[in-house]
Amino acid sequence: MAKKMQSEEAQRNTSFRVFEYGCLSPLANEDIALEQMRKRNEFWNRLVSIEGEYRKKSMSLIASERNDTLDNLEGKIADLRDEIDKHRKVALKDVDAFSLVNEVKKLQEDRKILYAEQKMRRKEFIEMNKPAFELIEKERRDAVKKAQAESGLWWCNYDDVLSSYNVARIKAMKEGKELKYHRFDGSGKVSVRCQRGLAIEKVFGSNKHIQIKPIDQTAWDCSIRAERRKMTRSIVKIRVGSDGRDPIWFELPFVMHRPISFECTIRSASVVREKYGNSFRYKLIIITCFSQFAENTADKGAVGIDLGWRRVDDGLRVAYWCDEEGRNGTLTIPNDIIVRFKKVDDLKSIRGRHFNNAKAVLAGWLKDKPTPEWLKGEAKFLYKWNSPSKFKKLLFKWHQKRFPEDQEMVAFIEKYLKRDLHLWQWEFNLRDKIQRRRRELYRIFAAELVKRYSTVFLEKFDLRRVEEESEYGTQGALLSNYHRTIASVSILRNVINSTFSRRGKYILQIEAKNTTMKCHKCGQVEKFDSKRQIFHTCSACDAVWDQDHNAAINILERGLSQKE
Ligand SMILES: [Zn+2]
Repeated sequence: MAKKMQSEEAQRNTSFRVFEYGCLSPLANEDIALEQMRKRNEFWNRLVSIEGEYRKKSMSLIASERNDTLDNLEGKIADLRDEIDKHRKVALKDVDAFSLVNEVKKLQEDRKILYAEQKMRRKEFIEMNKPAFELIEKERRDAVKKAQAESGLWWCNYDDVLSSYNVARIKAMKEGKELKYHRFDGSGKVSVRCQRGLAIEKVFGSNKHIQIKPIDQTAWDCSIRAERRKMTRSIVKIRVGSDGRDPIWFELPFVMHRPISFECTIRSASVVREKYGNSFRYKLIIITCFSQFAENTADKGAVGIDLGWRRVDDGLRVAYWCDEEGRNGTLTIPNDIIVRFKKVDDLKSIRGRHFNNAKAVLAGWLKDKPTPEWLKGEAKFLYKWNSPSKFKKLLFKWHQKRFPEDQEMVAFIEKYLKRDLHLWQWEFNLRDKIQRRRRELYRIFAAELVKRYSTVFLEKFDLRRVEEESEYGTQGALLSNYHRTIASVSILRNVINSTFSRRGKYILQIEAKNTTMKCHKCGQVEKFDSKRQIFHTCSACDAVWDQDHNAAINILERGLSQKE
């Protein structure tokens, strides 16, 4: 009993975390990996057809019930359905449809009761015919076993497909859907599983399922990004089969841009091959689990952090921290990142301009030309269109219903969409890259703090305050709204929260009232224009302080007084 409770306790404190790394071109055994992916696909499709057979058999068994009640119910339900549909159609056209609506409501009620009845009868029937159903179930299991044996897959791979099948079939049954066949288009995955969890150091060693070329632990601390990237380059070997007793490795280089912490254990790992435009790319996904309170929680002091953004000379300040010893510092998004966010924004507005232009050109063209009815209908709300995808849909229809003298416009839309796609990809990639960099910046900041402190105080998340955040950022030429997007203080907050809670550290949310307006030296609360300048002179004690530093001190003090 005690043991069971203990394991439940362990369960509760266990969380899963996913690490994802982009891979470069494979070094060895890509052909074998591809073969496994294709066979996984085949195996899945075979399981889908086994499932289909199983369903057919059990349905026909249910239908074989000679007691006509069930059929009658089915018939009645079908009739009701037709009736409801008929009424619906009429009701839509008829203005005076009030009585019909009520009738439909009544029919729907009846149907509900019939369904419930049917469900009960079915349950009863299954209970009474248990042996027959058990036979079907056994046939299914045998077929699955046979398919597995014939799949030609290394066991981890069939195991992985099987477990997704087992989850999917239950879900499909509950939702009354059928499992879907998958077409093999060259994408897929290979995976390995470590049932009891694999310690990280073994992955960097001689494990028989997955191996990662060790990385110097200091690599991640390197402050130069290019250097860090170079030092964190590694190679992953994932097992895709056996040669006698030896593993056959699928080998790929990758950049381990963030470390897997040593208190984690690996549960499973996959290399995924996915379609990317006209080519394919690989990524490594590692699923780990860790015990939340594994780390030593010795008290290392507290830090107060003021979150909020403000334009400063060297970038966008997003946080100011301060500890009990009076040490303090800031987190600032450097200018080069801000410039790139601006670039993303420019691309977006260029696309917007092209879109509006395309709408105007089409509208003008439609006015001058005799156009078919369908096109008039499609373009009826042209002025309301808000996304290029509307043009895509229109073009698709248009290609099926070409008419004389439409070449010019069709060519124009094609050209527009091609250019938009190009810009969209550019914008998307740039944004993705830049957001990752920001995240990395936030992650490093939080990692530094969690190393040094065991308690963090943050202001309570408060929507009103978020609105007010626009106060902080009116210096400089850019719109404050825009700065808010770049700073994404809520992301920083989440990163800090998750970093501290993951290590079992203490997070306390502090009441935000007056943290900015109160002087930490004398306690005077005064209203002042916080957006005008960073430094403020207290009118009561003449102290001069950086507003954000002042707020961080107030947060720290409030936190300490609450903690005791
Ligand atoms: Zn003062």
